[in-house]
Amino acid sequence: MSDQIACSECGELHTLDEVELVFRRPDAVAALSDAEREARCRENDDLCAIWGDSDDSHRYFVRGLLPLMVTGRPLDYCLGVWMEVRRDVFDRIYALWDSDSQLDEPPLDGLLANDIPTRPGSLDLHGKIHLTGPETRPEFMVADAAAALFADQRDGISAHQADAFLKSLDRRSA
Ligand SMILES: [Zn+2]
Repeated sequence: MSDQIACSECGELHTLDEVELVFRRPDAVAALSDAEREARCRENDDLCAIWGDSDDSHRYFVRGLLPLMVTGRPLDYCLGVWMEVRRDVFDRIYALWDSDSQLDEPPLDGLLANDIPTRPGSLDLHGKIHLTGPETRPEFMVADAAAALFADQRDGISAHQADAFLKSLDRRSA
């Protein structure tokens, strides 16, 4: 099922269905050569690590959803993105992965690990990770009040802007 909204900004019909902007891996992983990725990465669609040359150069990532309210749409628009986290945070998330006690966990710190095309500077933004239960992905909130994405989360976005996220990705992968 998809809803169409006649746009007051561009006049087109914007389709707001389940298709959202999703990054399959952190940018740092996508940037690796196939050989490096094979040698250094442990990855699945939820968690990912890049092995460095020493113990303090390993990098850890978790995938989640960054929700944005959309004017005229009952459901949030969610960006599927990754956050880079410290080892202790990664271990904590891993330990709680299948546990209902996720819901008692205070927000955890991370850095946004994808550069979102229509929001320059989004890579490495400070964020908070909210664990939402064993069956659902973590939820991310941007913590840097100066960032455009922070304002997006606080104020919501228009259907036109939501559509632009997907179009930006189409252009990038074309
Ligand atoms: Zn529009």
